[in-house]
Amino acid sequence: MKKWHIVFDVDKCIGCYTCLLACKDEHVGNNWLPYTDRQQKNDQKWIVMEKTDRGSYPRMDVAYRPRLCNHCGAAPCAANAPGDVIRRDDGVVLLNAARAKDNPKLVDACPYGNISWNDEIGAAQKCTLCAHLLDDGWKEPRCVQSCPLKALRAVRLEDEEFEKLAESKGLEAIIPKSSAPRVYYKNLHRVDKCFVAGEIAYRDNGTEVCAKNADVRLLKDGVETARSKTNAFGDFRFDAIAPGSGGYAIEAEMPGRGSASVSLNVGDASVDVGTVYVE
Ligand code: SF4
Ligand code: SF4
Repeated sequence: MKKWHIVFDVDKCIGCYTCLLACKDEHVGNNWLPYTDRQQKNDQKWIVMEKTDRGSYPRMDVAYRPRLCNHCGAAPCAANAPGDVIRRDDGVVLLNAARAKDNPKLVDACPYGNISWNDEIGAAQKCTLCAHLLDDGWKEPRCVQSCPLKALRAVRLEDEEFEKLAESKGLEAIIPKSSAPRVYYKNLHRVDKCFVAGEIAYRDNGTEVCAKNADVRLLKDGVETARSKTNAFGDFRFDAIAPGSGGYAIEAEMPGRGSASVSLNVGDASVDVGTVYVE
């Protein structure tokens, strides 16, 4: 049977939090039993937006990654709390709302921290993927429907079909594959990898000029691993570099102006090599 999956594109998200507000709008003050009781108004989120800063001024970026229930195919919560979790044929994983009441231990059943405690009603809760809406014919939960950038998508496919999609699009999960998660991320390197950036310039009669369209190469142990061209401001960037991967070299060439190279080390943070002058 086709199962619901969520795909989130880190590159598209601007951190506007509309998805979180839509989740609140749908669930705060609304009792959708037997799916779930109402969500707590404050201090409880079924989607937690995590923000990552990389680099330093002036070459830096900010990325957002939501964390929510993965609606795992091999749900550890179901194994840890027998009888308290409902695994539906369409892939949606729900907590048994009656058994979740006055049951704070259920919060610990998810090893990924995706079950939270509602102080207002005294119950363990989590994302339901708006199953009450899906069962009413909706094609997506409220968070997906509300995203103005289409950073979130709901995909209903057989697990094998989804695996092929994930492989062809480079989608990654943030929890172990052994749990068979159904929430996947695109462009996750914006969160868990480093970039190397800088600017290429040359001197022309005492004036510093941005080297537009210069060739820039990234080398590891003398072997080219990536190449790029500078933009109109002479800027370049190589992304998706493993943290802690050590020494690299940047080689730049501007036809008619000369070449330059610089060594760098990638530790646990992105690297700005500053302005490199070709001569
Ligand atoms: S993410 Fe946690 S709560 Fe959600 S299905 Fe997986 S184990 Fe259960
Ligand atoms: S609504 Fe879309 S763009 Fe806004 S924070 Fe959520 S996922 Fe990101």
